[in-house]
Amino acid sequence: MTETISISANDRVFVLTGAGISAESGLPTFRASDGLWAGHAIEDVCTPEAWQRNPALVWEFYSQRRAQGAEAQPNPAHYALADLERRLGERFFLCTQNVDDLHERSGSVRLVHMHGELAKSRCGDECGEPPVEDRTVYKSLGEVGRCSCGARMRPHIVFFGEIPLEMGRIEAEIDKATLMLVVGTSGSVYPAASFVHWARQHGARTVYVGPEKPLNASAFTHVVEGKAGEVLPGLFQGTC
Ligand code: NAD
Ligand code: ZN
Repeated sequence: MTETISISANDRVFVLTGAGISAESGLPTFRASDGLWAGHAIEDVCTPEAWQRNPALVWEFYSQRRAQGAEAQPNPAHYALADLERRLGERFFLCTQNVDDLHERSGSVRLVHMHGELAKSRCGDECGEPPVEDRTVYKSLGEVGRCSCGARMRPHIVFFGEIPLEMGRIEAEIDKATLMLVVGTSGSVYPAASFVHWARQHGARTVYVGPEKPLNASAFTHVVEGKAGEVLPGLFQGTC
């Protein structure tokens, strides 16, 4: 039987997505690659310490991610969420942990990237200059530009151990939500893994979609096991 989630005219929907939603677009989750890259633990590449110690390695990693991201295309799961947003308007909000831009390329507008964006760079010294669009695939550290303050630019990515972006807006949107939909995230990266608990505190329905149960599965009122690209297009029912 095909599972469906009913959405009524009074519902406000908060969606959290993770690496799993982009898996069917050919972008591997960290778990799928054993958490390793070129022999390094991902946690040793995506940290403030790695940036201080070896910025060339960090830029090499994110340049590869940029090249891979540019080739990927949105899949039916991204399009299903963009379609839901068109139906719900401002009663819809999307928070992604992903740094790829597949949500915006499929038409999503009301979204935040809590872990940053691959297609942007910002000052490595956090001098206050805003991030700038930058899709360059750097071949060497020497090619990387400088901020107006003189510091080397860094990827606009929240490294492990740094505070996620837009948390105030995210909390406000979770407070208003009557339905939280979480897609393709293992429930192991905080604070995102706590969002479902925050939503439950005020009685929201909470739905997880992914091929396996997340670590925080018991916090969901409903778990739909399946691939995002196969489940999401037929999941939502109701007048909206
Ligand atoms: P994660 O913790 O979000 O785990 C990936 C989850 O995706 C797993 O639970 C897995 O069961 C699920 N999954 C796999 N295929 C799926 C599918 N077809 N449909 C739905 N779910 C599916 O991610 P991680 O890989 O451990 O990464 C940790 C952090 O790195 C997160 O912030 C993540 O978003 C980020 N990351 C982002 C990208 C990207 O931007 N595309 C890629 C890798 C990692
Ligand atoms: Zn600067």
